[in-house]
Amino acid sequence: MRKSVQCLRCHTTMQYIANKKIQLGQTGWLLGDLPNLIAGAMEAAIYTCPSCGKIEFFQSENTASAGTIAQQKCPACGKSHDMDYPKCPFCKHDYFV
Ligand SMILES: [Zn+2]
Ligand SMILES: [Zn+2]
Repeated sequence: MRKSVQCLRCHTTMQYIANKKIQLGQTGWLLGDLPNLIAGAMEAAIYTCPSCGKIEFFQSENTASAGTIAQQKCPACGKSHDMDYPKCPFCKHDYFV
């Protein structure tokens, strides 16, 4: 299922173009013609804005947990909650103390 993406500049719905493998690193200068196995590749979905021509890359659904915030387990009460809390919402355990 493709997500609907809006252009950040002009808020036009962006068009999906293709999925493309993107190399995360270049090892060619070091290892000659060996494939880029060490650096690996990431698959990205490419979207373009038909209005202003802006191009955006999104990590593919199969490698990203799209739309979900990573969970973190509170060491004090053992409950899971979204990672963007500075404190545990259940027991108020403070991660930065
Ligand atoms: Zn645009
Ligand atoms: Zn807690």
